[in-house]
Amino acid sequence: MFKKTALLLIIAFCQVSLTFAQTESLKFIIRVDDILNRNTTILPRSIVPFQDSVESRGGKVTWGVIPHRLIETANVDGVLAEELKATITRGHEVSVHGFDHICNRCESTPRAAFWGHEMYCTTHNEAFTKAEQTALIQDGLALFAEHLDFVPTSFIPPGHVTDATTFEVLSDFNLTSFSDDTEAQFMTNNVFNFPINEEYTWALSQEMYQQNLDSALADIKMAASETGIYGLMLHDHFTRSGYSNGIVLDWMVELMDSLNHYYGDNIEYLTLSEAVESIKGQFVSVEEASEEIADFQLHQNYPNPFNPATTISFTLEKASRVKLLVFDIQGRVVSALINQSFSAGNHQIPFNAGNLPSGQYFYSLTAGGQTTTKSMTLIK
Ligand SMILES: [Zn+2]
Ligand SMILES: [Zn+2]
Repeated sequence: MFKKTALLLIIAFCQVSLTFAQTESLKFIIRVDDILNRNTTILPRSIVPFQDSVESRGGKVTWGVIPHRLIETANVDGVLAEELKATITRGHEVSVHGFDHICNRCESTPRAAFWGHEMYCTTHNEAFTKAEQTALIQDGLALFAEHLDFVPTSFIPPGHVTDATTFEVLSDFNLTSFSDDTEAQFMTNNVFNFPINEEYTWALSQEMYQQNLDSALADIKMAASETGIYGLMLHDHFTRSGYSNGIVLDWMVELMDSLNHYYGDNIEYLTLSEAVESIKGQFVSVEEASEEIADFQLHQNYPNPFNPATTISFTLEKASRVKLLVFDIQGRVVSALINQSFSAGNHQIPFNAGNLPSGQYFYSLTAGGQTTTKSMTLIK
């Protein structure tokens, strides 16, 4: 009789422990870039349905707003500006996403059609001067001041491209929070990077809906157990061509309902600036860490141009963790080639673009908080 009771107690205790063990805590950042994109004829566009759905589930949104959108034809009625003012008062964040998201140096490409980097020209591998980058950010902030009566604290780089000069300029303007898709959560000039974990809704279709939802939940739970924090990236979710309107909103709602059910009181929603506040102090500055940064050289791929296979090689001065990504001309990651540790010396990574269309691509190697990017051409 005693043994049975003890056994039941042990079972009961185990169940409590198991339940407790799976209830980890999660800080969750929801960020929507490119408000409001030009790639649409569907009107009206509004951030309100997404904002309200997220808000009703306890969430906060960080909107990456391209300042120039505020004065473009689709938004001159001021409706977007009013929505953005309102969203700020409700605890969401408006972040500066460049000036007009168009590179001043890519003149050979029709400007209106070129969508990508703005702070550093990856097409020509040319940096913009501090004066040029200052002007871009200053003009963007001026549009925010005029149309939103608002001084932002965070910056989201157009096309995910920045250089050291960008950090200086951000620091000059007291933009202390920053988000890029490199893995290092580094700090320099008092500007803290909060990298994106993943994006699942860039071109969401009904066929991919469930699979993307399942992978997102699995990835978020894994990140929660490893780092306790997750940054989800979305793009202007209303009208991207090929979407059936509203599918991203449905997906987001379902994701949040699952997360809220799973984490209960242990999920905390943060804006980008709030997330950066919460990680300050955990990361050393790039200057402090630089002694430990391994130098590397990223070589031109061979052959180039190529069809469809080529080899990307790099040389490490000492053993380092290396991430190598391939982007299309719009800054989208088309292939995550490697993310692992390598020994010192030369390494060759094959890349096959069999499933990609002809065009210019970029490959970007990150090691020790430093990133170098080169371009290559696929001709089929
Ligand atoms: Zn350019
Ligand atoms: Zn963007």
